[in-house]
Amino acid sequence: MSSTKTPVRVRFAPSPTGHLHVGGIRSALFNWLWARHNDGKFILRLEDTDRKRLVEGAADQIYASHDALGITPDEGPVQGGPYGPYIQSERLEIYARYATQLLESGALYPCWCTPERLDGLRQEAQKAGTAFKYDRYCLKPGNQLAEAEPHVLRFRIPEVPESIGWDDAVRGRLDFKLADLDDFVAIKADNFPTYHFANVVDDHLMKISHVLRADEWLPSTPKHLLLFQAFDWEPPTYAHLPAVLGPGGGKKLSKRDGAQSVQEYLDEGYLPEALRSFLASLGWNDGTTQEVYTTPELIGRFTLDRVQKSPAKFDKERLTWMNGLLIRQMPLDELLERSRAFLPPEAKHYDAQYLKAVLRLVQERLKFLSELPELTEFFFADPASAEPHEWLPQIIAALEPSDFTEADLETRLRALTTELDTKPGLLFGLIRHAVTGRTAAPGLFETLHVLGHGTTLRRLRNNQF
Ligand code: GLU
Repeated sequence: MSSTKTPVRVRFAPSPTGHLHVGGIRSALFNWLWARHNDGKFILRLEDTDRKRLVEGAADQIYASHDALGITPDEGPVQGGPYGPYIQSERLEIYARYATQLLESGALYPCWCTPERLDGLRQEAQKAGTAFKYDRYCLKPGNQLAEAEPHVLRFRIPEVPESIGWDDAVRGRLDFKLADLDDFVAIKADNFPTYHFANVVDDHLMKISHVLRADEWLPSTPKHLLLFQAFDWEPPTYAHLPAVLGPGGGKKLSKRDGAQSVQEYLDEGYLPEALRSFLASLGWNDGTTQEVYTTPELIGRFTLDRVQKSPAKFDKERLTWMNGLLIRQMPLDELLERSRAFLPPEAKHYDAQYLKAVLRLVQERLKFLSELPELTEFFFADPASAEPHEWLPQIIAALEPSDFTEADLETRLRALTTELDTKPGLLFGLIRHAVTGRTAAPGLFETLHVLGHGTTLRRLRNNQF
């Protein structure tokens, strides 16, 4: 089964059960790229029917992460759209209507079994070493209770055909035996639909053409196809995206490996375009050796046949490298705008020209923007005074008449090296430490040039006594 649906309409359907981490947003990005590649629509749908797992604030964080990454939905809870509402808990009447349809056709049936009875069945299955399958007690004559009694609606797995399958756009042909499937719950006792039921009804009503989702959802797909069949609807094309593993491969991405929320990466000063390029590489490549892509390049080249089957490895160091590369390529004006939220607070007292001169000196080594306070604070505030040194009066005398161009600073300080009969490393290190409080900083002449005559001499004098 492969869909012929056009135009391309894809959705990302997170459950607001916690922080949107990088694996989740990778799915969102792939959907967004596929929509943009085809001039289609990218839809955000909130799957909040599992009421016990809801986390306060998670939905807002999902919206904010999309915006910050620049993968804004065309339709969704914030944008609205012709197929709304886009939050499942606001669609209960719709699910109830479709559940009635399947109840009448016999595809769904009520089940009154208590949690205790079901637990017992589960334990028996476990003892026998088999997968749990509901025993259809409530289908047997005489076992039905009154409709008013609390009950769920189960989907009756058909006896024929023997198996169900689809041509996955990433995995190829996949088939599952129906005999292995359990009569899953479609509508819960609280009248909320389960993930399976709501997901299928919405994918149909929202005219979704392709479902790009992580391959952890693979076992759910046969159930979804059976629901499509029961409704006599055409299913979308499924494309199951490879898992994202830690850098060593083998095990799931952990917090230590970089399984952070998107917001945390942005707060650390990772650029949205670096994240987009990096996340796109988690399971996709264009067949060349290119490593970093601009977003228009990603949109132009993103096709499903280039999505890989094997798990992707998340290497945070590679992301950091990409981020540094993009920072180095950035025009200074832009770097300044992007850096404003990260520079030390004192920086707001300085003009753009000074800030750009500072940024030019650290741009080369800057890997992410939250490194800026540490790298630049001495450009904005005097460091604590160092130990007084016997050479300081001569250093001050040598620099006092300088015009503070880099060339003049260099000439004077090299002459002083000869005069003091010492090595440049020693003298320059001493000056650097006295003026910046650091042992390593950008080049000395450039640094002094940016700091200027007044600041440099004030700081040197501060160290004299
Ligand atoms: N609500 C599911 C999730 O949290 C959606 C899976 C799907 O895309 O079908 O990921």
